[in-house]
Amino acid sequence: MAKTNCVKCGKEIGFTSQVKLVDGNFLCKDCEKKAGKIFDPMMHSLDVYDQLLKEQERDQKIFDALFKKKRTFQFGKGPYIHACEDNGFMYIQTDGGGLLSKNKVYNMYRFQDLASYRFVDGNPNMDHRMKKDQTYIELKFVGDYVIDTLYLLSDEEEFKELTRYFDKAFELVQQNNKKGMFKAMKGLKDGIRQEQEAATNISKGLQGILSGNKEMALDNMKSGVQMALRGNRIKWSELTEKLLREANISWKV
Ligand SMILES: [Zn+2]
Repeated sequence: MAKTNCVKCGKEIGFTSQVKLVDGNFLCKDCEKKAGKIFDPMMHSLDVYDQLLKEQERDQKIFDALFKKKRTFQFGKGPYIHACEDNGFMYIQTDGGGLLSKNKVYNMYRFQDLASYRFVDGNPNMDHRMKKDQTYIELKFVGDYVIDTLYLLSDEEEFKELTRYFDKAFELVQQNNKKGMFKAMKGLKDGIRQEQEAATNISKGLQGILSGNKEMALDNMKSGVQMALRGNRIKWSELTEKLLREANISWKV
C-alpha cells in the first residue's frame, strides 16, 4: 500500500497510521487528535477540521476567561457537557485525558443557540458512533457551528434533569410567585423583541435564497423559526455578547 503525506503537517504516514477523511484527504493521527473527540473522519471533511480548530482556539480563550472557578451543571455519561448559568455557555470536554492532560480542547456552545433537546434511542444511521441498545440526549444548535448536533450517552432520568434545567433557563416553565404579573409583562416585552429578531433572521434567510446562497439561507431561516418557538433567548444572547466584549473575544472565527 502506498505511503502518503499528512495534508496538515506534511509528515509521511504509513498505511496503519493514516486517517482518511470523508473527502479523501489524509491526516496523521497526531493532527487528527487535535480536533478532539467530536471530530469524526468518517463524517467530516478537511473544511470541517480546519473550522473546528479555529473554533477550539476561540473556545479555549472563552474557557480561560469565563470559566475560572465557575460552577457548572454536568450532563451525559462521557463525553460530558458542562453548562454554566453564570455566563450562558456550555462546553464539551473532548479530550480523554485526566486532570493533568495538557492538550485540552473544548467545544463551546451558547445557551441561546440551543434549538432543541430530546431523548433518542441509539441509531447508527444518525451517527455511526451511536450504539443500538443505548440511549442518548440529542442537542441541536443553530448558528455557525461547524458541528451542530451532539449525541451524549445518557439515561432518561438525566434527560429529565436536563429538560428541567433548560426549560427554566429559557423560561418555558411557569414561575409561581407574587411578582407573577410583572414577570408576565417583562416576558411580553422580551417576547416582542425576540419575535423581531426571529423575523430578521427569517428575512435574512429569504434574501439568501434569492441571492443563491441556499445553505446559509436555510440556516438563518432555521434559527429564526426556532428563536420564535422556544422560550426566551434574549437575556442569554445579551449576557454572552457582553461577556465576550469585555473579554475582547470575537465569537466569529
Ligand atoms: Zn499531521
